[in-house]
Amino acid sequence: SIIGIPKEIFANEKRVASVPDVVEKLVKLGFSVVVESGAGALANFDDESYTAAGASIAASAADLWNGADIVFKVRAPTLDEVALMKEGTTLISFIWPAQNPELMEALKARKVTALAMDCLPRQLSRAQKMDALSSMAGIAGYRAVIEAAHQFGRYFAGQITAAGKVPPAKVFVAGAGVAGLAALGTAVSLGAIVRANDTRAEVADQVKSMGADFVKVEYEEEGSGGGGYAKVMSEGFQQAQREMYAQQAREVDIIITTALIPGKPAPKLITAEMVQSMKPGSVIVDLAAEQGGNCELTVPGEVVVRHGVSIVGYTDLVSRLARQSSTLYGTNLLRLTEELCKTKDGVIDVNMEDDAIRGLTVVKDGEITWPPPPLKLP
Ligand code: NAD
Repeated sequence: SIIGIPKEIFANEKRVASVPDVVEKLVKLGFSVVVESGAGALANFDDESYTAAGASIAASAADLWNGADIVFKVRAPTLDEVALMKEGTTLISFIWPAQNPELMEALKARKVTALAMDCLPRQLSRAQKMDALSSMAGIAGYRAVIEAAHQFGRYFAGQITAAGKVPPAKVFVAGAGVAGLAALGTAVSLGAIVRANDTRAEVADQVKSMGADFVKVEYEEEGSGGGGYAKVMSEGFQQAQREMYAQQAREVDIIITTALIPGKPAPKLITAEMVQSMKPGSVIVDLAAEQGGNCELTVPGEVVVRHGVSIVGYTDLVSRLARQSSTLYGTNLLRLTEELCKTKDGVIDVNMEDDAIRGLTVVKDGEITWPPPPLKLP
């Protein structure tokens, strides 16, 4: 079969769904690979590097979609892109079915099969190698700290210099999931004093093992909802959490927020008052900006200065490291392709008996198969 890699058309999207090293392996699995001209340009992969890896180049999006049996994408396709798909095509990309009912209907009408990388059952240890949400979250967490360092007027590490003593920066990370852990690891490696909080008590050990302190909310309530994800906390807990966060805001120089609750708006953890209480020159990076923000004053997509505090609301942090994120995403898709093509003959089999594949498959041969039945875990 032919795997097609189109150029991403979403504004500011610099990633591409496959990279030359991965293309080489897809060819070894028996596939032909076609890449739209310029698809990798913003991630620093030129057309020649793809042809050297064994791909051919399609001159236009229409040629690409028309020729492909399987399409690898990063962003969910637009309705115009769906219109370019042949009947029977298999699409593998982020889709977010709950947020995109219209797209789901369009995929169904087009009689295609769609695998949504955001629907991978991440609890399965076998699925980890395909977990693009985690690889992208890790990059976002890293880049958040780099953006914070860029805005911050001081060193992260404490130093004793001939010109005087420099105190270390203090960093507070709100939410210690995959992105939060990457952020705190990066801040620790730059030499800052780092603390973190999460509503799920189980992450405290992971935070400590990475060299940061875990700050607890003094209120007994477990934050784990279904499948290891967070839930909306009680009013009492939120009150106690606000008091603790208010104290952190007064003490620290940098706050990185990463708190999300699946299917809900991001919890508002940093109030305008807390921002006002921070030292001048402090920085907030809000990784939840696209989901409404963890800070009341975040403006999605922008850096704003409020009360002397720079608030970074970029929604394209992962794209700002496009070469890295394309490589990891491409590798996640390669691992998935290996699962779909155990025969290594360039033909995929979307096996609905396989828990991981079942979870990913949101449209099968023109039928909507999302949401999947609950996973039976041992
Ligand atoms: P996420 O992006 O949905 O949320 C980020 C973090 O915000 C989570 O840790 C969450 O607990 C926290 N949070 C939510 N509300 C909060 C609040 N009010 N205050 C403070 N923190 C709050 O999470 P994620 O990074 O995608 O990971 C979610 C879960 O999935 C984690 O348990 C993670 O370990 C798990 N996971 C498991 C596997 C696996 O088992 N193989 C793989 C990936 C992720």
